[in-house]
Amino acid sequence: MSEEMLEAYIKSYIEKQNHSEIIFHWQGGEPTLLGVNFFRDVVRLQKKYRPNGVTIENNLQTNGTLLNDEWGKFLSKNNFMVGLSIDGPEMIHNTYRTNRAGRGTFRQTMKGVEVLHKHNVNFATLTCVNNISGANPLQVYRFLRDEVRSPQMQFIPIVEPKSFRDTAPQHWPDSEVLFQGMPETEPNHPNSIVEAWCVSPSQWGTFLCTVFDEWLENDIGKINVPYFEACVETWMGRVNPLCTLAPMCGKGLAIEHNGDVFACDHYVYPQYKLGNIKDEALDDMQFSAGQEEFGRAKEASLPKQCRQCTYQFACFGECPKNRFTKTLEGEVGLNYLCAGWKQFFSHIDPYISMIVATMGYPIHKGVNSEAMQIKFK
Ligand code: SF4
Ligand code: SF4
Repeated sequence: MSEEMLEAYIKSYIEKQNHSEIIFHWQGGEPTLLGVNFFRDVVRLQKKYRPNGVTIENNLQTNGTLLNDEWGKFLSKNNFMVGLSIDGPEMIHNTYRTNRAGRGTFRQTMKGVEVLHKHNVNFATLTCVNNISGANPLQVYRFLRDEVRSPQMQFIPIVEPKSFRDTAPQHWPDSEVLFQGMPETEPNHPNSIVEAWCVSPSQWGTFLCTVFDEWLENDIGKINVPYFEACVETWMGRVNPLCTLAPMCGKGLAIEHNGDVFACDHYVYPQYKLGNIKDEALDDMQFSAGQEEFGRAKEASLPKQCRQCTYQFACFGECPKNRFTKTLEGEVGLNYLCAGWKQFFSHIDPYISMIVATMGYPIHKGVNSEAMQIKFK
C-alpha cells in the first residue's frame, strides 16, 4: 500500500467512526513483511488523526516467523494485539505451513512465540483446523495450552471448494450443488467437491466437542476460547459476537492494497466490490444499500432446514461462504459444516445451560426477537 493510500485510508477510517474506541485489523498475506517502519508510520498517522477522547487499537495477524526483539518492543509499546497463526505441534503445523523452499516453519513460529512472551505482547492463537489438525484435537489443544501458553485460542475451520473460485456459492448453478452427506462432500473422496486438506463436517464437530470437554474440565475461566464463551452469551439471548454465528454479516469491510473495498474478507469477489477509497467515502460504502442487503441476506437466505433447526439461534447457518450444499429436501444454501455444528451445539447445550443458570441468568434457546432487531448502522 502506498504512503498516500495508507494516509487516506487511516484518515477516512477514523473520521467515519462514531465510537470512542477504534480498531484497525492488519492481515495479509503476511503483514510483518512490510517491516516495523510501515507500522511506525501507521501509529504516527493514527495519532495525527485521532480525535480527543478516542482510543485506537491495532490487531495484527501474523505467522510469527519474522518476529524479533525490535518487533517485540514495538508491538508491546504500542499495545498491538497479535493474532498468531499456529496449527499445532511441529508435525501438524509443518504439514501445511511451509516456506518457499518447502520447509516447515514451526521453529521460526515458536521463536516468534518466545518474542511475544518476552515482551509481554497481548496475543491470541489462530489455529487452522484442517484434515490433520482436525483429527488430533487434544494434541492440538494441549500443545497450545502447555507449550505456546496461549491465553486465547481461536479455531478456524478450513473449508475450500475445489472449483468456482471466482464466484461466491450464492452464484453457483443449483444443479452443481451436492446434497448434504453425499460421499463427494468428504475431503478424502477422490471426486470430492472440497480440497483434500479441508476438515470434514464430522471432524469439525468432534474437534470442537473434544476441545470443549478438555476446556470445561481444566481451563474454563483461565483460557478464552471465543467459540465457547460466545455460546454462553448466545444461550443468554444475546447476539453472538462472532460474525460467523451471528444473524448478520457486513460489519467488517476488507480493503486491498490498491484501495479496493469489499463486503467482507471472505467475499473478495467482483460482485461484492463496493468501490475504492480513492473515489468513495468509507461510510458511503459501509452503509450502502448493497452492503446492507449483503448483511441481511445471511439470515434471510437460510434454508428451511436451518429455520427449523433447534440451534438456529446459535448458528444462523454459519458463514455464507461455506453454504454450498443442499438440504435433504433439495434446497440450496446449506452450510457444508452443518452436521459438525449440530453435533457441537447439541453436545454443549446442557453444559452451557448449566453455566448460564449458575450465573443467575434465564436461558434463551430460540431466536430472540430483540436480538433480531439489529440495526445495520
Ligand atoms: S461472510 Fe462470513 S466472515 Fe464475512 S461477515 Fe459474514 S459470517 Fe462473517
Ligand atoms: S446446525 Fe445446520 S441446520 Fe442448524 S442452523 Fe446450523 S447449518 Fe443450519
